[in-house]
Amino acid sequence: MDDQELINVGRSIAQDLDGILGDGAAEVRPRLVELLDRAEAGEPVRADLVALLAAHEELRRAVRGRLTGDQQYRLFDALPGDPEPQLPPRYVCPQGDQEWYRFDAGEAVPRCSHHDVPFVPC
Ligand SMILES: [Zn+2]
Repeated sequence: MDDQELINVGRSIAQDLDGILGDGAAEVRPRLVELLDRAEAGEPVRADLVALLAAHEELRRAVRGRLTGDQQYRLFDALPGDPEPQLPPRYVCPQGDQEWYRFDAGEAVPRCSHHDVPFVPC
């Protein structure tokens, strides 16, 4: 799923947030809207957006429901061999300053932009 697809899904969820989260919507909405605006402005907030969308079971379900076919498998499912798909696999800089979520098994794990070392799974 590319950034634009992620934004589209996020916008759709933002519109329906009351129905998805009920009372919890008020807490999530400002952050979600902010991240979507920043993503559309080209800021590198993809990891933050994914983390937010992965933080609630209801949101994960809502994201899945908005994807089709291949994408549905690829978004929040664990990598092959992982028994319990729940959160996207999380990677961190060994120095602890950055994190990244792999929500597509075909995605290459990036390097920390500060330390120039590969992220490690955690
Ligand atoms: Zn780092």
